[in-house]
Amino acid sequence: MSKVVESKNTSSSLIVSWAIAGKKVLVVGGDSIAASRAVFAAEAGAVVSVVTPFASLSASLKSVLSGSTGSTASSTSNAQVQWFDRSFESKDLDGAALVFVCADSSVSSALARQIGSLAKEKGVPVNVASLPELSDFFFMSTYKDQSLQVAISTNGNGPRLAAKLRKQIVNSIPAHAGSALEVLAKLRNALKVADPSQASNARRMAFVNKVSETWSVETLASFTESEVSALVKAYQSQSVDLPRVKQGSLRVIRTGSGSVEDLTVGAYRALSEAELVLSDSAVPKEFLDLVNGDLMVVPAEAERASDTMIVAAIRALELGQNVIRLRVGSDAISVSEDEELNAFLQRGHNAHVVPCVSAIRAVAAPVATIKESVQVTQAPVSIAKQLVVPVAAAQVHTAAGSPTLISGQDAAAHVAYALTDMSFVYPVLPESTLAASPTAWSAKGLKNAHGKFHKVSTLETRAGAASIAHGAAHAGSAVSVLANSAALTHMLPSMYQIAADKLPVVIHAAAQAVDKDFGVHASAADVYATSFTGFAAIGSGNVKEAHDVAVIAHVAATVSQTPFLHFYDGSRVANEKSVAPVIETAALGHVVKNAVSQASAVKSVPLPDLVEAVMGSLAGQLGHAYKLFEYVGAKDAETVVVALGASAAIAEEAVLGQAGVGLLKVRLVRPWSARHFLAQLPRTVKRVVLIDDSKVAGAAGHGALFLDVTSAFYDSVWSLPVPTILKGNFAAGIQNFTAAAVQSLLKTVATASPRVEFKIEAPNATSHVAAASNVFEAIVWDQQADNTENIAPRAVKLLESQGASSVQIYTTTSSVTVEPISSTHIRFSKDGSVTQLSQSLISTANYVAVHNVKLLESYNVAASIREGGLLLINRPGANPTVADLTKELPDAVKRTLAQRKVRVAVVDADKIAFNYTQFRGHRGEYRNLALLGLLGKLCDGVDAGLAVKELEAGLSATETDNTVYRTKLGALRTALSSVVVFNAPSEWGFALMGADLPKYFQPTFGLQKLSNLEKEDVVEVVGKAVAKYEPALPVMFKEAFALKSALRPDAGEKTYVVTVTENRRLTPDTYERNVFHIEFDIGNSGLKYEIGEALGVYGQNNPDHVEEFIQWYGLDGAQIIRFDRTNEATGAVETEYRTVSQLLVEVVDIFGKPGKKFFQSLIEHATVMSERERLGFLASGEGADALAKLQEEETPTFADVLQMFPSAHPPIEKLLASIPNIKPRHYSISSSMNVHPTSVHLLVVVVDWKTKSGKPRLGQCTRYLVGLRPGKTVTVSVKPSVMKLPPSHEAPVIMAGLGTGMAPFRAFVEERAYQKALGNKVGPMVLYFGARHRSEEYLYGEELEAYHADDLLTHLRLAFSRDQKEKVYIQHKIKADDAMLSEMILKQGGAFYLCGPTWPVPDIRDALVSAFSKYMTVEEAVEKLEALKEEERYVLEVY
Ligand SMILES: Cc1cc2nc3c(=O)[nH]c(=O)nc-3n(C[C@H](O)[C@H](O)[C@H](O)COP(=O)(O)OP(=O)(O)OC[C@H]3O[C@@H](n4cnc5c(N)ncnc54)[C@H](O)[C@@H]3O)c2cc1C
Repeated sequence: MSKVVESKNTSSSLIVSWAIAGKKVLVVGGDSIAASRAVFAAEAGAVVSVVTPFASLSASLKSVLSGSTGSTASSTSNAQVQWFDRSFESKDLDGAALVFVCADSSVSSALARQIGSLAKEKGVPVNVASLPELSDFFFMSTYKDQSLQVAISTNGNGPRLAAKLRKQIVNSIPAHAGSALEVLAKLRNALKVADPSQASNARRMAFVNKVSETWSVETLASFTESEVSALVKAYQSQSVDLPRVKQGSLRVIRTGSGSVEDLTVGAYRALSEAELVLSDSAVPKEFLDLVNGDLMVVPAEAERASDTMIVAAIRALELGQNVIRLRVGSDAISVSEDEELNAFLQRGHNAHVVPCVSAIRAVAAPVATIKESVQVTQAPVSIAKQLVVPVAAAQVHTAAGSPTLISGQDAAAHVAYALTDMSFVYPVLPESTLAASPTAWSAKGLKNAHGKFHKVSTLETRAGAASIAHGAAHAGSAVSVLANSAALTHMLPSMYQIAADKLPVVIHAAAQAVDKDFGVHASAADVYATSFTGFAAIGSGNVKEAHDVAVIAHVAATVSQTPFLHFYDGSRVANEKSVAPVIETAALGHVVKNAVSQASAVKSVPLPDLVEAVMGSLAGQLGHAYKLFEYVGAKDAETVVVALGASAAIAEEAVLGQAGVGLLKVRLVRPWSARHFLAQLPRTVKRVVLIDDSKVAGAAGHGALFLDVTSAFYDSVWSLPVPTILKGNFAAGIQNFTAAAVQSLLKTVATASPRVEFKIEAPNATSHVAAASNVFEAIVWDQQADNTENIAPRAVKLLESQGASSVQIYTTTSSVTVEPISSTHIRFSKDGSVTQLSQSLISTANYVAVHNVKLLESYNVAASIREGGLLLINRPGANPTVADLTKELPDAVKRTLAQRKVRVAVVDADKIAFNYTQFRGHRGEYRNLALLGLLGKLCDGVDAGLAVKELEAGLSATETDNTVYRTKLGALRTALSSVVVFNAPSEWGFALMGADLPKYFQPTFGLQKLSNLEKEDVVEVVGKAVAKYEPALPVMFKEAFALKSALRPDAGEKTYVVTVTENRRLTPDTYERNVFHIEFDIGNSGLKYEIGEALGVYGQNNPDHVEEFIQWYGLDGAQIIRFDRTNEATGAVETEYRTVSQLLVEVVDIFGKPGKKFFQSLIEHATVMSERERLGFLASGEGADALAKLQEEETPTFADVLQMFPSAHPPIEKLLASIPNIKPRHYSISSSMNVHPTSVHLLVVVVDWKTKSGKPRLGQCTRYLVGLRPGKTVTVSVKPSVMKLPPSHEAPVIMAGLGTGMAPFRAFVEERAYQKALGNKVGPMVLYFGARHRSEEYLYGEELEAYHADDLLTHLRLAFSRDQKEKVYIQHKIKADDAMLSEMILKQGGAFYLCGPTWPVPDIRDALVSAFSKYMTVEEAVEKLEALKEEERYVLEVY
């Protein structure tokens, strides 16, 4: 049972529904659409007002108004359809619940618009047939449920979707395409000037073509005027080969300390061959003497030097020269921190540093990445001993990362995408976004670092997962796997094989565990479960590390031919977006190639040493010298925290700067190297504290990390006393491990005799580690994650434009509530002094914005504001006063605001958005822009002036439509000027009455959309298990209870109980298709039917199958369930009792087809994790294909699904509530009531099929019908139909029936025979009947032949498709009769009917069009057919 929801606000959801019984529905217009809208609303019990002048009344609307036709009369008999013979007037809208505006001649588009706007003003949902942008909703015609009408609303999003599509198209055009085209245009013009002859047209074109084929779009786009001139010269000189445009190169040479003998051949050559050398003035003359090309000594003052040098260098680079930058200073150059190099990077020159340090020094220098390729020079260069020249030779392609806003999961995926040919994605959790970015990149056709297409396959996680990755790697492909860590356990067999085959597959796993409340937290438990597979396992702790460690893993895997598992925090890091240096695809190929070639020299060393060598060789490019174990903190620490992955990143914040404490970050988990571990520990260590997220507190045994660490001390050479080893395990369900938690655990372990094992408690929201003073933090609360989603990247842009170098953004969402709440945490360091931002959730921010005021009712968001911070509230109402807010804000919020001396800013951004855009769907964008502007204006640490400029510049760059640009600008400026700011008055501190509110919600990650599903899924549990004696009461005390018995009181339509009198198979027993004729005695049920109507049959389930299910599920079949249902007609509550057995046989569709919602509803009941994950996957967006495949191949029923997931065992009431009732199936009635006044006949074919695994299946209702013996009762209803005979008995009737499509035509023929018998003159009847074989499927053959002989059936055309070699179908027969049919239809007012399967519809339509086109043009014939449809003279009933 679905709950009847009356929607007042159509913008609240995509699905809207109205209970419109008894309400006014206005229909403006008189065409057939108006007619169908009127019928539709009347069927739902609405009071319908149709407004249209008489002249516009269509035939169909007339028949609705007269109530004369069968279907309308019966379906609208309880309702009123009033007609007003005039044009629309605005008063018509008064009191209307819904408005339909149709598109006929009486409604001009101006009028439609006027009605649309008026309706909006009055808050009446409107549907305008011809103007989707004015429509609040569209109907899903199949979702009617009596008084409940369900529609789909675009919320005005139609145009936005179109705009999105456009954007997508534009985005898929390669970057720089515009500039490249401009260059080509320039070239074409220049060629024309140089060679204007007409005769050279072809040659010029060929030349331009060749140019465009020769260079990439990017290179073409970068061509300068002089390069274009060079091309023209080449054209003139008739040269066959096109000139190669020379690429400039930038090298950096840096002097350092050392000896002259250290000068390398590379350095020597670089200096002597360079075309331009730019040198610091402090560089000694000896170096400068080596220069043969141009030499420029740049001034000593830093700023001027830098500017002059950059200008000169860029000019030379554009000329394709090799440029050397010669600098004094240390030999360690980090590209990402080198301002000068960054200046080149930003200008697109992509120079990076590959130092050619003297061979000996290169080993030690972290940036010495190409030591193998550099030899010590033999040249007797005489240079003073104290002046050594470490040389960096930059290449054209940079290896350094460029700052990019990216999530941890995408950072790892980017590396995998760039370095391999295919990725296999195993998303386990519902709504996992693992596959999203790689799939998008692949769809865009982005190539990998080797210039190949990268294939992304998203797969189901089941036992044997990753075997496909194994196969692909075996076949020689470079393979990555992206997975949620829960998938790893399913991959174990494949992982063993991959490792045994020495295949360098890299798995990037989001390490996570889901707790019982659907919270997702980081956990390495699944990673450790792969310990013995032979995979090396290496972890990363934040977004930058996810990128870097991914690179390390791929290089190490390639060199060692060992598969690697790279794991990152699957909760925070996976979803956090940070600005991190990301090496772009092409450069990554280059970097990796170098690193592989260097590491190959030492590939025979043990794997841990090899990984460390790889880390060393990549240090320059990654900007950090990674180690297997990295120690930070006090050199003489007595307490050392040991942690891995994200826990290590968080622990670092707590440990740094604390006396006596250090942190050892574990990166390489497998193979475990005790030697490397011990080497990093300070000798002073007395206590080792493990933070082990691989084990849940309370679980038996030691965690893997504990065993590794302990064995390191006992089994290896540790000559000092073994320190005390303590271990903190995560409390089950811990959501956010923070630095504060580490600090408190350090306090715990500092006591004299701490416990060896302790629980790491969930952090207290109020205890926090203060952010550094130059780090700013903001939190934005909103009710719809989507709204904030589009704020986040723009906020980052805004902050970057201010110079903020480190920016981090993280959205947490709560799925606990029905409306998802999100809070977006933005953290940034403006001056770049803090490069590593905290990984903890922000506890108190400088700026907190509540974008949806409703949230203040449930949460004290003020608790997350720092003292002196600012709270922005977006609330309805202009110019609020303090008194207004005093009234509105909850006491708890006011108290906190006063205590913390917070400034409060108030704006009505929704109203501003409303005022600036008429399109409801765009309002969110306008609102967010306004709110973003306020973040720029009001947040500490942001330069308001710059922020506004950036937003305005952003608008002018992105908005091509001037009106949109101006209105957005208006909304932004209005928000900035209308915001009211004041200090929280101290009286608020005395707001004592109100209770405290929770400060925060439990965030859940990765499952954000769960709540949406739950919302849709709200199922009313109507059934209650009751004591067995309860239903006996009404029977015993009949006078006190109005007792009645009904088979399907839930049906919601009038039902009748009829009795089977005949059930006869028409096809031979040996024939594969079972077509049968079934007759029911109407008795005194009151059932009446018209010609062409269909019978709704309420089928029942097989009692034996039900009994089997009851036994298996452990139910009590005799358990009584009570339903309390309101009788809509009388308003009285009626109570219904049934046993569980009865329900499952008669009502509940237990053997029907379960949809996604059923899988969703089982998740909460599944107690086995793997079942829960699988259910979650199938119910998720990612799992949609897998679910569809399962349904198509195995066609499981609800009962089957329960057997597939035995741990999901909802109690009977819940089960009943999550399975819909059996729906009636419709069958065209094959009898005329005039001929058979007491019976109703059907012609039915048994629906059967086999599942892929070979199980035979039968359709629910046909299985029931075919098994019914005479005497059995059946519950039925009558469904009106469009299959009506023409009003005149003399009009020709042309019938085309395939298989059981014959049914209504038997009724037609019977009816005409009856009329004839009455002495009425009847017109010709033509029947086309199609089936496979005459001998088996000539349904009602004898009757037909008799009618034919009697000349009632004037033309009998049979098409038995398989009785002859050539296939013959009814459309062939129709074609052959084209002249006759045209005559009957066009001249004699005949009607054409088609019934049966859908597939012949197009052919039959074509046959008729071609018949008509003998008398008119094809276009007119098509129109004619449409007109006939409208007149109900071309009628299709296909199923
Ligand atoms: C107006 C109208 C008139 C009709 N007239 C006739 C008529 O005269 N004669 C006639 O024989 N039929 C007629 N039909 C068709 C009839 O209504 C039924 O659709 C048909 O009999 C099948 O019903 P069923 O309950 O036996 O099969 P169902 O159980 O409804 O199965 C139908 C199909 O659904 C799929 N399916 C079922 N269960 C699953 C599952 N668990 N997972 C995945 N897929 C599944 C299968 O592909 C199957 O073929 C008419 C239909 C309409 C709308």
